[in-house]
Amino acid sequence: MTPGPASKPNLAIVIPCYNEEEVLPITVEVMLAKVTDLIKRDKISAASQIFFIDDGSKDQTWSLIQQYAEKHQAVRGIKLSRNKGHQNALLAGLMTAEGDILVSIDADLQDDIDVIEQMIARYADGCDVVYAARAKRQTDTAFKKMTAELYYAILHKMGVNVVFNHADYRLLSRKAIESLRTFSEVNLFLRGIVPLLGYKSDTVFYDRAQRAAGESKYPIRKMLAFAIEGITSFSNVPLRLITFLGFSVSVFAFAMIFWVGWIKFFTDTAVPGWASILIPMFFLGGVQLLSLGVIGEYIAKIYMETKRRPAYFIDKVV
Ligand code: UDP
Ligand code: MG
Repeated sequence: MTPGPASKPNLAIVIPCYNEEEVLPITVEVMLAKVTDLIKRDKISAASQIFFIDDGSKDQTWSLIQQYAEKHQAVRGIKLSRNKGHQNALLAGLMTAEGDILVSIDADLQDDIDVIEQMIARYADGCDVVYAARAKRQTDTAFKKMTAELYYAILHKMGVNVVFNHADYRLLSRKAIESLRTFSEVNLFLRGIVPLLGYKSDTVFYDRAQRAAGESKYPIRKMLAFAIEGITSFSNVPLRLITFLGFSVSVFAFAMIFWVGWIKFFTDTAVPGWASILIPMFFLGGVQLLSLGVIGEYIAKIYMETKRRPAYFIDKVV
């Protein structure tokens, strides 16, 4: 039977955890309470579960997960062989968890879990993807707010389609999950890929709180790496920029070559050796950048091909 929106869906909450021993006991309690409540009010099936993915933690995270899994039927654990980063841990969870609808969320309870119910309601309305986006960013520092806004603007300019102020708190239907599975790329930026699925989607809004316990597992270094990943795995605009730069520099260089030649042959202000240094410098500079740009264009093609992204997804068949 395909559990359509009419019947109670089996919910799986997917939570990547990296060194989260401090917050985990609170998270388990809060999530279990939420799931129990939703089951009681007939919103989800009684078989709904919570999946914790241990992303190669070095602390007690995994042994805690094991204990909770033994104690509570609804708690499940998945352990990765080593730390692979948030996106990969999340993907592992999404690909492994069973359920008709999967909600991914961070372990630190910064995201308001009360909107899960709204997400399920949207699913019942026929959405296969429901994004949870932050209404305000009041708990962020001015720096994080500014860089985040700038980043979204750049992504947008480069043609990467992401939902503003949405992180990885979202609901995916089984259909969306199975489509996601067919992406075979190694560099994963789920925020960019999920909108590519193209199924009916909606956004719900919430306010983000402070971490319930522990500290951020995303230092500036990881944040930057993630930001660059987001651009480079979706866009070859950076490569194209080299072509434009090379072209402009070449035009400028040829103008300069004429200018240097003019000074050399038609005036007597040229110092000996000046023209023979400047002309090759401009010439080589221009030619090199232009060639790099051309090579870049081909690399961009190869890059897009090697992704072997699926060409389409069938949403419905009647
Ligand atoms: N996380 C992970 N692997 C990592 C880093 C982080 O699975 O290498 C998890 C972490 O346990 C948390 C989520 O990703 O559940 C988001 O991390 P965090 O809350 O530290 O990021 P922030 O909210 O500060 O951006
Ligand atoms: Mg957090």
